[in-house]
Amino acid sequence: MLIGVPKEIKNHEYRIGLTPASVRELTERGHQVIVETQGGAGIGFDDEAYVAAGAKIIETPEEIFATADMIVKVKEPQPHECRQLREGQLLFTYLHLAADPEQAKLLAESGASCVAYETVTDAVNGLPLLAPMSEVAGRLSVQAGAYHLQKAQGGMGALLGGVPGVAPAKVLVIGGGVVGTQAAMMAVGLGAEVTLLDRSLPRLRQLDTEFAGRVKCVYSSSESIESYALEADLVIGAVLIPGAAAPKLLTRDLISRMKQGSVVVDVAIDQGGCFETSVATTHQDPTYVVDGVIHYCVANMPGAVARTSTMALTNATLPFVIALADQGVEKAVATNPHLLAGLNIYQGKVTCEAVAQALNLDY
Ligand code: NAD
Repeated sequence: MLIGVPKEIKNHEYRIGLTPASVRELTERGHQVIVETQGGAGIGFDDEAYVAAGAKIIETPEEIFATADMIVKVKEPQPHECRQLREGQLLFTYLHLAADPEQAKLLAESGASCVAYETVTDAVNGLPLLAPMSEVAGRLSVQAGAYHLQKAQGGMGALLGGVPGVAPAKVLVIGGGVVGTQAAMMAVGLGAEVTLLDRSLPRLRQLDTEFAGRVKCVYSSSESIESYALEADLVIGAVLIPGAAAPKLLTRDLISRMKQGSVVVDVAIDQGGCFETSVATTHQDPTYVVDGVIHYCVANMPGAVARTSTMALTNATLPFVIALADQGVEKAVATNPHLLAGLNIYQGKVTCEAVAQALNLDY
């Protein structure tokens, strides 16, 4: 199959659909890969690396869209990219169609088959192509929090791990899923005193065993949130209720009673945020202050570490890219129910129940 990888065109998006290492896996299996020139240059994957992996470098995205059988991207296609897709072509990328009826319409009109990373499933009811970005965001949340606790960044001037003779800072992680677990792991690694709250007892049991006493695993209630938040130097919001907006777990009143110069990182901001005072921010201007508490609410945190994020994402997408390239979309989704769950648009129709429901379409 001829696989095309255009350069991402969203503002400050440096990730790319395939790394040179993943291109090599595909070319070694007999597939052809074309990559837009400078597509990975922003994260250290230059054209020479792609050529060495067996890809051909193409000057324009138009040529890629016009010739490739499958387009592999990271972000959803922009309107003029959607219009270049055609019948019989396959698109594999993040789509997030439930919130984007205009894109769903353009993709359906294109006649292309569209498989969305975010709805591909795995054998344990997980979302394997979302998990790597949650892992990145979870680890990064502690790094961002530690940085903004510094005096020059407006924070209280506390070092997460303390030093011998000085107690470590207190970190509260709310939500013990993928993001929260990685955040807790990083905070422990930096020597902080970490408490993790979750509403799922099985999850708390599992984490309690995994962290073996290094993290206090506590049931999440209004009372536990309040008491730990008031003591915390850094709070990480990492909750998710599938299909729903994030619950507002820190109220404005509670935030106003937190320590001056403490930091809150709302990773759940892409689901509306789990703090009442959260408003989405950008990498260019990531923080603002409410009642003396620094808020970090960047909606696309993995973009800050685009090189790591690209490698983590392609590690997860590659087996699916290979299945789609080896078998073609029809056979691949017929033999793999997890890939079938990813099929959002086929022959001009929305084929993902959740997306169809969100857009009020026939399914
Ligand atoms: P997950 O499903 O793995 O974990 C969510 C956890 O929240 C679950 O363990 C659940 O039991 C827990 N939870 C639900 N309600 C709770 C409550 N009231 N109190 C405590 N815990 C509660 O989800 P995830 O992959 O860890 O993602 C977490 C959030 O991070 C999501 O909103 C996701 O969209 C977001 N995210 C944001 C970025 C970003 O760049 N900002 C990147 C990746 C993920």
